[in-house]
Amino acid sequence: MNAYAARVIEELKVKYAHEGEFLQAAQEILSSLDKVLLLHPEYEEYSLLERLMEPERVIIFRVPWLDDSGKIKVNTAYRVQFNSSIGPYKGGMRFTKGVNLSTLKFLALEQTLKNALTGFNMGGGKGGADFDPHGKSEGEVMRFCQSLITELYRHIGPNMDVPAGDIGVGAREIGYMFGQYKRITGEFSGVFTDKGLSYGGCPGRKEATGYGLCYFLDAMLKKNGHSLEGKKAVVSGSGNVALYAAKKAYELGALPIAMSDSNGFVVDDEGIDIELMIDIKEKRRGRIKEYADAKNVPYVDKPSAIWEVPCDIALPCATQNELDEAGAKALVKNGVIAVAEGANMPTTAEAVKCFKDNNILHAPGKASNAGGVSTSGMEMGQNALFLYYSAEEVDNKLKGIMENIFKNVSNAAEVYGDSSIDYVSGANAAGFLTVANAMIMQGCV
Ligand code: NDP
Repeated sequence: MNAYAARVIEELKVKYAHEGEFLQAAQEILSSLDKVLLLHPEYEEYSLLERLMEPERVIIFRVPWLDDSGKIKVNTAYRVQFNSSIGPYKGGMRFTKGVNLSTLKFLALEQTLKNALTGFNMGGGKGGADFDPHGKSEGEVMRFCQSLITELYRHIGPNMDVPAGDIGVGAREIGYMFGQYKRITGEFSGVFTDKGLSYGGCPGRKEATGYGLCYFLDAMLKKNGHSLEGKKAVVSGSGNVALYAAKKAYELGALPIAMSDSNGFVVDDEGIDIELMIDIKEKRRGRIKEYADAKNVPYVDKPSAIWEVPCDIALPCATQNELDEAGAKALVKNGVIAVAEGANMPTTAEAVKCFKDNNILHAPGKASNAGGVSTSGMEMGQNALFLYYSAEEVDNKLKGIMENIFKNVSNAAEVYGDSSIDYVSGANAAGFLTVANAMIMQGCV
């Protein structure tokens, strides 16, 4: 590793020894910038890596709320305002058990480079709370969201920080948070994205991350002499990203044959009936086992074993570090051609190495899942100008944006990667250069 990058990662390891996921993301990024740093020795003079790896601001606060029995509950919430050099902080809110600062710092760092790849003026941020909406009543979810915004409202705004959804935060939670923000500030503005269509949302946002993933995958396959036609796909997760990735993969000619949730996975050799899956998981908030029961297909109560299902294409779309070295080896052994990440950092460092060593096409999430935030960029533009795009316009723009991101990542891989298919280095280099140059131009801030 480049000496400057190595020094910075060692300093981070000492300073943030307890932040495993943040260090993992930082290490992955810094270790892929060797050629960039060689060509730009001036970055060290500007202490650019030190500044990039330190969030501009972190807000941590308690969220007290009343459960249905009238008892006071308390959660911890965060907003990591990581980097605003190319635009207002932008990134989702995650509500799930175990959310902590390390996870949110890694996500905000990834988001900073991802947003730079989209071409929109969006900085990087991320937030969330250790609140799990599963099993909570509508009233409890609403009271939690309102209490969270009663503190967070003073730190966000359409030109300051624009949160969105993520794990555990969908249209319902965004609606409650937006409503409370509007009530406190008296302003109807584009402070959130992923809003409902009737109050400023962008058509196609729900589908955008999954669809965008497949547009990126399609471009990557074509560039390397393959196509999606007839390919068997395994998709982990069955949330927002996974459902629409499976749907678009099917539309582009592939056959999604397995999907999972946090309890287990199903295999349907005929191809997943995606409308049934959407009905169970999105509309009824049910479990994936209900799909297996309805279709009489195999169900395995070990989600991580999904990677043992033979396939041509793997789409990890659930959560971080869900695809480890054992999973990667199983995929390689079974002849996988491409792995495209819908989730953020779903692949462990050892699994990434396994794919690289075996020349598997590997699309890193910060590039391949950028379709969601790109559509959020369209939503921000729409709100600022009081415009409205049609679903068709959004989908066309999304396809163009994802193809363009692939082109930029691929070009950067040629220049800065270890090979022309080193898309991990390509994505890191392309995103980093945009942010780094903006930081230098803005002086010591
Ligand atoms: P959701 O909450 O909608 O869905 C997450 C899904 O993953 C659920 O089906 C959940 O199961 C499942 N899951 C969680 N843990 C595991 C596990 N260990 N093994 C298998 N399945 C698991 O989240 P999203 O779809 O929005 O987000 C998924 C990932 O994509 C996250 O990494 C997120 O940061 C990233 N992402 C999301 C974007 C978006 O637009 N939504 C944009 C870019 C990235 P269960 O139903 O049991 O909870």
